[in-house]
Amino acid sequence: MTGQAARIAAAWRSARSVVPPGHLDAAGCNVPSDRVLDAVVAHLRLERERGGYAAVPDLTTAKSALAALVGAGPGDVAFLESGTAAMAALLGGWRLAPGSRVGHVRTEYGSTLMLLRHLAAWRGWNLVELPVDGDARLDVEGLRARLTAGLDLVIVSHIGSHRGVVQPAGEIGTLCRAAEVPFVLDVCQSLGHVEVRGAGASAYVGTSRKWLAGPRGVGFLIVPGVTPAMDAAAPTLGGHLWNEPSPGTGGERALPEPLPGAVRYESSEGAIAARVGLGVAVLEYHALGPSAVHARLADRGRMARALLDGAGGWRVAEPLEEPSALVTLRPPPGDTAEKAAARAAAASLLVSVVPTGRAPLDLREPVLRVSPPPGTPDETLHVLARVLAS
Ligand SMILES: *Cc1c(COP(=O)(O)O)cnc(C)c1O
Repeated sequence: MTGQAARIAAAWRSARSVVPPGHLDAAGCNVPSDRVLDAVVAHLRLERERGGYAAVPDLTTAKSALAALVGAGPGDVAFLESGTAAMAALLGGWRLAPGSRVGHVRTEYGSTLMLLRHLAAWRGWNLVELPVDGDARLDVEGLRARLTAGLDLVIVSHIGSHRGVVQPAGEIGTLCRAAEVPFVLDVCQSLGHVEVRGAGASAYVGTSRKWLAGPRGVGFLIVPGVTPAMDAAAPTLGGHLWNEPSPGTGGERALPEPLPGAVRYESSEGAIAARVGLGVAVLEYHALGPSAVHARLADRGRMARALLDGAGGWRVAEPLEEPSALVTLRPPPGDTAEKAAARAAAASLLVSVVPTGRAPLDLREPVLRVSPPPGTPDETLHVLARVLAS
């Protein structure tokens, strides 16, 4: 292990006085640090002492730290309740004319596909599946051709929930910008895990509890340039200005209006303490050093794939050298992801089963997902290899 990898592993562990035994589920729900937990609890106490509205925190630092991860600013961030809620808020309000062509990859997340099909049916959008290679990695030349033929929006998950392949976000961003086509990058599985800066997306959709190791119940949008076509899905009083009712002219009375910028998407009611906690988690990630964290995670992923591929006949689904720590495995005949996860639980290991509905156009059978956080010792992966072989 390099000195830097050892430093990250030790810092990760020492920041957490309690970690579930054998935790290998960073892609599902990671373990917040003690400081994150303390910040959440402290804010809940403050809300009780002062009254929730009097305790409203200044989240500018949290938003700046989060936005910096994609090269954006604090005014570009909106907090919501989950990645799914963020995607629905973003796409639901996007004014794309009937007949607009929306490109996506077949690895797209189940709830995003449900949303896209729904919007396509209601609004007359055409969904265009973009070409991929044998690993379901977007074919960049194929995207170029589709952009030339005409696309109005491109949506890609940087890393899927069910496959550790890192999509070429930088190249996609470059092509979309050149074609002046907006590009939505789902970073739920990539922010805190791999480099996202340089993607140059029009909007990023993310979540707190996975690789950023924030609390549950927070998702976010980072929208570096809200255009006039982008409004919140269901205009609400969250993220909108109150207008004074117009004097009784007999005409239509004025309603609240969306605030300029990304905050128009933000829900004003929510788990505010959890947003405070996410801010602390993101600052901790900056303090660890994102590139050192990425290197450590890529190392955990490579080691897991090397140890697990072939164990008991299980096969790793993505390239063994893929620079991610999201590892997925296909069962051998006679075994299933559910059975293996139960054996792992009996050995005090926490792994997850990814059902086909998570990526319905790509997954043919449930896979076992192993996603080690940075502090994972080698021994935990060795134990899992023995469990798979048993
Ligand atoms: C988890 C996930 C989401 C949804 O995030 P939630 O916070 O669970 O709603 C979206 N896309 C991908 C790729 C994910 O892994």
